[in-house]
Amino acid sequence: MYTSTRSPLEYSDTSAVLTGIAPDGGLFVDPDVRSRAFDVSACMGLEYTAVSEKVMSHLLPGFESRMHEIVSVYPGKFSSPEITPLVKIGDDFCLELYYGPTLAFKDVALSVLPLFITAAKDVEGISETISILTATSGDTGKAALEGFHDVPGTDITVFFPHGGVSAMQRLQMVTQSGANVRVAAVEGNFDDCQRGVKEAFARFASLDEKQRGGRILSSANSINIGRLVPQVAYYFSAYSQLVSRGEIAFGEDVDFIVPTGNFGDILAGYLAKCMGLPVGRLVCASNSNSVLYDFLTTGVYDRRRPFLKTASPSMDILVSSNLERLLFYASEGDFELVSSLMAQLSSEGVYALSGTHFAAIQSLFSAGWCSEAETAETIGRMWRDFGYLCDTHTAVALAVMEKYKSSEGRGRKCVALSTASPFKFPSAVLSAIGGTPSDDEFETAMRLSELTGVPCPEAISGLKTKPVLHSGVIGIDEVVPFSLTAF
Ligand SMILES: *Cc1c(COP(=O)(O)O)cnc(C)c1O
Repeated sequence: MYTSTRSPLEYSDTSAVLTGIAPDGGLFVDPDVRSRAFDVSACMGLEYTAVSEKVMSHLLPGFESRMHEIVSVYPGKFSSPEITPLVKIGDDFCLELYYGPTLAFKDVALSVLPLFITAAKDVEGISETISILTATSGDTGKAALEGFHDVPGTDITVFFPHGGVSAMQRLQMVTQSGANVRVAAVEGNFDDCQRGVKEAFARFASLDEKQRGGRILSSANSINIGRLVPQVAYYFSAYSQLVSRGEIAFGEDVDFIVPTGNFGDILAGYLAKCMGLPVGRLVCASNSNSVLYDFLTTGVYDRRRPFLKTASPSMDILVSSNLERLLFYASEGDFELVSSLMAQLSSEGVYALSGTHFAAIQSLFSAGWCSEAETAETIGRMWRDFGYLCDTHTAVALAVMEKYKSSEGRGRKCVALSTASPFKFPSAVLSAIGGTPSDDEFETAMRLSELTGVPCPEAISGLKTKPVLHSGVIGIDEVVPFSLTAF
């Protein structure tokens, strides 16, 4: 059973996945996730698909009878036999989440979300077209397009910030084929795209059935609980891999360092902890858009600051949607408090949390941030010291991991989440390891491959010959009308 973070109405998990966002603007949450028993030990030593089946069936019981079939898509879509392999670097670990079709961790969820949607339509007896609306900071867009293109009974619209994603990320999206896809660049940043999409949901909710034209809107962003649940599984898989290799004893706490933007990936780690996984601390790693670092260290969330464009664009976000879910849990389900904080954020751009609720958050979460220079320096050092090539987002996590270990770290094993392939950001990565990028991104990717001996994935090199199919640029005000227009 799910509720909204802003009111106690109850929803089934299938309807929560189908609609993406609650009618009151809140996010769907499982209020009992901390009290429903889950057998963590039964996940140890299993293959990824089996772990994922157990974890997702627990969180989305309405899909249980189809879960086995749903998770069976992973081996065909991911190029690593472990799906999410754990790599040792020095004394610590990187959980590599980027072996899916679009080379970012979003594939873990977006490979199965279309199957959830199709199953939920069956369960709920719904015949309307499910129209997926997605705002992307770079990686969700392509992963969602890859998942939903040509899926019967669905269509998908993606908005990305014009000039706000890497050249490769843009090419991945604008070359997407499929009769049911639309992609538009928006003259604004990610927050503008996300706000537009949320407004479109609100406007759509006020339309009558005829005006809706046989559509139901849903989301492929991590505001959709169906996006978060698959991500919970890889925390269990990482833990199981540590136990199997004898790196830890079962029951020992492990700290996770998560490069964060919309607070989705790290919230998945929180849900894993709620289910009983021995997670020590969750360390939120930000780039120079350090709004979450400031919140987690002071209790004040203040989005009134310049939006900085960084080398880790998928984390360039000032309004982190999933923090709302954490506020719900930390306040023990205080709907009114969450509603009022969210209203303050939208009208004044700032809110403050203190007392026991903030203490509850600080008892679990640590935070760090890293500058652009530190990001580049970390990529260079990882390559020199360990022969480990990482992307710009993973570098933020690794830099913050180092700071965490030398300050408040508890001497526990640390796992940093590695969220994208370095070949999605070839210029930034190549310069960081001492190479010289070319004006041509494909040439730069080739140089990166030659210098490091790491092969360039086909999903990148193959883009070179693909025609651009979506070259439209729209204004911020056009996001809502564009969304409400049927295909
Ligand atoms: C989306 C993304 C992130 C941030 O994840 P959130 O769930 O939004 O916090 C980090 N790294 C990469 C590569 C991403 O694509």
